Amino acid sequence: MSAVLPTKSEELVSYNPATGDEVGRVAVTSPDGVVGAVARAREAFQSWRKTTFNERKRLVMAAREVILADIDGIAKLISAESGKPFGEAISMEIAPVLDLMQYFARSAEKLLKPHKIGIGLYALLGRSSKIVYHPLGVVGIIPAWNYPFSIPLGEAAMALMAGNTVVIKPSELTPMVGLKIGEIFEKAGFPADCVQIISGAGETGAALVEAAPQKIMFTGSVATGKKIAAAAAKNLTSCVFELGGKDPMIVFEDANLELAASAAVWGSFCNSGQSCSSVERLYVHESVADKLTKLIVEKTRELKQGVGTREDVSIGAMSSERQIEIVEDHVADFVASGAKIEIGGVRSPALGRPSAGHEPPKGGTQNLFFEPTVITSVNNDMRAMREETFGPTLPIATFSTEQGAIRLANDSEFGLTASVWTRDYARGRRVAEQIEAGSVCVNEVLYTHGIGQTPWGGFKNSGRGRTHGTEGLMELVQPQHIHTNRLAILPDAWWMPYSSNAVETFRDMARKFASGSLLKTTALLPQLAKRIRELIRKRS
Ligand code: NDP
Repeated sequence: MSAVLPTKSEELVSYNPATGDEVGRVAVTSPDGVVGAVARAREAFQSWRKTTFNERKRLVMAAREVILADIDGIAKLISAESGKPFGEAISMEIAPVLDLMQYFARSAEKLLKPHKIGIGLYALLGRSSKIVYHPLGVVGIIPAWNYPFSIPLGEAAMALMAGNTVVIKPSELTPMVGLKIGEIFEKAGFPADCVQIISGAGETGAALVEAAPQKIMFTGSVATGKKIAAAAAKNLTSCVFELGGKDPMIVFEDANLELAASAAVWGSFCNSGQSCSSVERLYVHESVADKLTKLIVEKTRELKQGVGTREDVSIGAMSSERQIEIVEDHVADFVASGAKIEIGGVRSPALGRPSAGHEPPKGGTQNLFFEPTVITSVNNDMRAMREETFGPTLPIATFSTEQGAIRLANDSEFGLTASVWTRDYARGRRVAEQIEAGSVCVNEVLYTHGIGQTPWGGFKNSGRGRTHGTEGLMELVQPQHIHTNRLAILPDAWWMPYSSNAVETFRDMARKFASGSLLKTTALLPQLAKRIRELIRKRS
């Protein structure tokens, strides 16, 4: 449960992206250390898999208590290491993961209960089938830095409730939050090696994949996802991929514009736009575009930007120089393509100065605050409307018809989430079903990752598989089918040896039994009896 000790003396140093202060340092786990961690997790699995759901529930609920006892301390650490506002660390990470933990602690047993399945006409032959769920073994979790607490912790809690053990490789940008997750499980009393944290950069993640856990839960970019898919193929390790997004928000002319404007501001600027489900494209009906844009700009102007650990700050620092440079590149692309910056568009100059209360970050980076930016006169041909930005930018385009809005929304390689805003709920649902995305909200935005009961995952290049919800839990188990014949006195008609009579029976089975019709199958009975008599005669 604690950090795996290194065999060589490399260190990751974690800096606060807002202030440049060191948050902490952690030893990098060597490739041998990674192999050892997975081996110990396999060993621990042998006894963990035998624990009752009640025991797992007790420990997961105890982990919740550990978190509850130190909410502010954990939120400060998340904010310091990621740059996000303190308030968001609680509202978007701690609170949702606590809810997810209690839900799966209480529901996993019911959701994974063995159950009978219908087998149609085979039941008439005295057969029955049931499904039993088995844990997989070791689950490797490789999360991104943007939700460094809730994503790996939530996935770990689900994996543990399903009877697996877990090895987590946090992002190199948020290693201390990763260690905190290990500490929480340790304090809660989980047995040794049920949850291990390994530390390091991409190579450490690659070593984890190489060590062949039974499953990889990956959250990150499409490019890294493809590398992991290729590496995992070597051992046929199955993976869930939670990848990027370019999520659209569609606002119809009858929407509550005041609400939609507030939602757009939160949906695109929370976590400085570094959410996989951030609103990255807003399509508004042309008749209300000016009004909505005005409201959005006014609301954006009111936002206070600063060091995230201050409670009144709505927009913190971005996570890294690399990320803020992508945002600058996209803003430059918008401008060069003829778009108009309504507000923002630059790094926040005041926050880069020491007089603003902090030094420029060490480690080569400078000012990582990007102003929340609203852009108009954009269209889908612009590069910045096609690539994931992952920053506080809100480009607004217009449409004139419902089908036009759907076409624009679907015109993307990504399909993680989307939202539709209208007072006409029938239209909202109709449009939602035509959007190619894993989650579509009607009159809501972004937040359903926080509802542990609902599945999370993308269409198209936004991912494969699901986390959360029953679908996500099913990714963490292997279903076993147990089939019983309670009339085991006669041979099956399809057994050997074959004959002309056998082939005639098979033809009849194809025509009658395989129709699913009881009536037609009744007509098959004489031929079936003939065939079985033939088999019995040949046997005796
Ligand atoms: P990356 O793909 O760069 O990294 C993700 C994780 O993979 C990190 O822990 C990283 O380590 C690790 N990693 C890097 N290379 C390898 C490798 N070869 N083998 C194994 N692991 C490796 O993504 P970002 O961290 O930049 O995250 C941003 C992306 O994540 C965005 O595209 C965003 O949309 C997506 N995302 C998707 C979510 C979803 O639910 N669909 C949720 C949140 C984010 P290290 O950081 O140490 O280099």
